[in-house]
Amino acid sequence: MPAADIILKNASVITVDSRQPTAELVAIRGNKILLVAGKQKLESVTGARTRVIDCQSKTVVPGFNDAHCHIFSLIRKLLSIDLSPSSVSSIIDIKAAIRHRAQSTPLGKWLTGTGYNEFYLAEKRCPTRWDIDEVAPHHPVVLANHCLHACVLNSLALSLAGITRETREPPGGLIDKDPGTGEPTGLLYEMLGYIREKVMPPLSEEELINGIALASRNCLSYGITSLQEATVVNDFSRWQTLRRFEDNGKLKSRVFMMFGIEALSQFQEAGLTLGSGDSQLRLGGIKVMLSETTGRLPLPQLELNQQALNVQRAGFQLAIHAMEQSTVEAAITALEYACSHLPQAGQRHRIEHCSQCPPHLLERLANLKTVVVTQPPFLYYSGERYLAEIPANRLRWLYRFKSFLNSGLIVAGSSDFPVVPENPLVGIYAAVTRRAESGRQLLPQECISASQALAMYTINGAYASFEEGVKGSITPGKLADMVVLSDDPVKSPPEQIKEIKVEMTIIGGKVVWEA
Ligand SMILES: [Zn+2]
Repeated sequence: MPAADIILKNASVITVDSRQPTAELVAIRGNKILLVAGKQKLESVTGARTRVIDCQSKTVVPGFNDAHCHIFSLIRKLLSIDLSPSSVSSIIDIKAAIRHRAQSTPLGKWLTGTGYNEFYLAEKRCPTRWDIDEVAPHHPVVLANHCLHACVLNSLALSLAGITRETREPPGGLIDKDPGTGEPTGLLYEMLGYIREKVMPPLSEEELINGIALASRNCLSYGITSLQEATVVNDFSRWQTLRRFEDNGKLKSRVFMMFGIEALSQFQEAGLTLGSGDSQLRLGGIKVMLSETTGRLPLPQLELNQQALNVQRAGFQLAIHAMEQSTVEAAITALEYACSHLPQAGQRHRIEHCSQCPPHLLERLANLKTVVVTQPPFLYYSGERYLAEIPANRLRWLYRFKSFLNSGLIVAGSSDFPVVPENPLVGIYAAVTRRAESGRQLLPQECISASQALAMYTINGAYASFEEGVKGSITPGKLADMVVLSDDPVKSPPEQIKEIKVEMTIIGGKVVWEA
């Protein structure tokens, strides 16, 4: 056997490969895993130039795969005013933060804030244009809420966007208006992408470079070696931007980039198809948004069916955003339509979130063999809100990880960052305990084991992007993507899983981050 470039020794390796579930040693040569073995094999792969890393009995797992997230939104967030519940607790706080930032920002330059969550604000309401006007009348301001499905603009930003009481709503969007005067309140639903892409100036190169460096570092520090970009406004120029950052090493995690259906022709003209690219950046499926925020489907079921069939015909994977029972059902109906009209094995269509799924829908999902890409950390960060707001008859169908797995579905884990923080270990903790931050538990019968949760964040994520043959487990021949953890998530008491830290992140055989 040839000599290894790097050997991790004295490791407690959880391979997530059932053929060899545990090991003590991993040898890496080039960007791939050479050997996974017991400690007695150390000499056989040690050469004169081999770097031997003593893991001191610490746990080594495959690199984490965040199967649904938004890297450009994370960049925006990292560059903007943090309005998340850990930073502000009231609209008064939000105003103070905006006033403070406005003082050091040239007049007329956009101010952005992200992460406000009205449920956790003392006033229990969203801020309005008038709140923001009080503290920043001469800067256009946009505040994105925590789930990115709503945003608030001040009066100057509204006028730059051309939004008045007469403005007609775009399909799927909603402009909130004062019931008395008919004036827009500044609150917009499902229009943040439009505001960012069409109204605000694009991020400057300097902002982009700073932002990607921060975002990349965050991902590596949490052991995220692969991420799946699920933004519906992704297009060919986003692909080129990511290509540039992957090529110059500014973004080290591997990316599977989904995109919106409007961009399909751009990719086809460039000769790209599903899976095009390389192990660093690969073209993903087509993201379709089905949101109930506005109280109706953004497009009628018949059109949705046709769209699904078109995607099926184009040979792409479909990734349908569906959270509520009604949208999950609409997504399933569309997939059934497409798959019955054009049966084609192996496109691995995905439902993103699949938050509310009663038994009759779960059965249809299982028949379709749809991949479910879900977000365990929502239970942790939003569990209290779910308990307060979702009626009991619907709460019992919420994020049913165990039922999904029992019915044979492949379930991939994700954070949907920047909706909630990136840390996959909080996701694993939440899948195992189903506890909210307060400690209250939601549907304990849907708890899964730590091994199952780890698979969701590794091999199952790789499956969702058709890459389980090259990554997702510590297996000879696969890409050498792995992390060294401060503790063992499978053997630790469940309560401690979220405290486990990533001590080292390795991508393609290179140590890219160390604590
Ligand atoms: Zn998302």
